Amino acid sequence: MFFYVVAGVTMGLGLYCVITRGRGRSSRRSRPSLLFTVMYWLYSKTHVGYWYHRHLLTKAREKYPDGHSVTSAVTFGGLYLKIQPVAIVSDNYSYVVMNTKRRIAVVVDPSDPEAVQAYVKQEGIQLAAVLTTHKHWDHSGGNHALKRMFPGLPIYGSATDGVPGLTNPVLDGDMIQVGGLEFHVMSTPGHTVGHVVYQLDGAPFQAPDSLFTGDLLFIGGCGRTFEGDAATMLKSLEKVSSQPDNTIIWPGHEYTLENLLYGETIDGDNENIREKLRWTKDRRKARMATCPSTVGDEKQHNVFLRTRDPAVAEAVGMATRRLTGVTEEFQASVLAELREMKDKFKVST
Ligand SMILES: [Zn+2]
Repeated sequence: MFFYVVAGVTMGLGLYCVITRGRGRSSRRSRPSLLFTVMYWLYSKTHVGYWYHRHLLTKAREKYPDGHSVTSAVTFGGLYLKIQPVAIVSDNYSYVVMNTKRRIAVVVDPSDPEAVQAYVKQEGIQLAAVLTTHKHWDHSGGNHALKRMFPGLPIYGSATDGVPGLTNPVLDGDMIQVGGLEFHVMSTPGHTVGHVVYQLDGAPFQAPDSLFTGDLLFIGGCGRTFEGDAATMLKSLEKVSSQPDNTIIWPGHEYTLENLLYGETIDGDNENIREKLRWTKDRRKARMATCPSTVGDEKQHNVFLRTRDPAVAEAVGMATRRLTGVTEEFQASVLAELREMKDKFKVST
């Protein structure tokens, strides 16, 4: 017990440093500090991370008894497909994906198992599977508890990411078919080594595809590259941005306001960013969720998907190579700078 208390306090302090100061002090390509490396290892590889997650979950429930944001379900195909965001922890989203004709549901990243259990009971549906985007506890911390609540429940996730409670490991290109719902697995490393996203086939419901992007892509932003480099992250982001423009994006966190405030510092003349920021400010005043988005919209207002854009490159101190063209290596450098500046960005109050 003593170990957990000491480790928890140390970890809280460490995470505070990580969150508030980024990954280092030097201006270019800073390496993770030793403190960061130790704290990240404790969080992602040990049970201390789970303990810390449960602590944050308890605090968040006290602060937001009805969830951090007001969410609403989106329905397609004569109501046969229903996707319900569930606002959990302080800014995470789980998604309950339902085939309402067959009364079967799949849940993505249910790190608050009690919230998911309550929703499933209220809807009177059968929970048939858990899809986990990556191992971080704020996405996977409910897996063990849900297995106990729903015996035999399959837990899908990357075969290479160390997802807790994993029963059905998946690889890039795999298909998951549950209750008339079909998900295509895409490997998207960078945030973690085995991060995956799940693409729900919308065709049976006369709907666009839906992409559950975890901590790869947020509205107006992208995840940190904890376990990969910028070139890896760039490839993963391009897998998403190469999907049809009407593909619906369901991100793992409510980070939209901060992301767009940062985007405005990079490309302040971009009317798409300014318009989305105005809309977001209005939504957040009433604590309304900002998900979902679309691939087409993200390509307009998300600076992390615009590393080819001269305005974005110049904003991070890199002149574009107008004569030789923009190479992937150049784009990765722009992404690295964008990410590092975002890690240090603070919203002024
Ligand atoms: Zn994560």
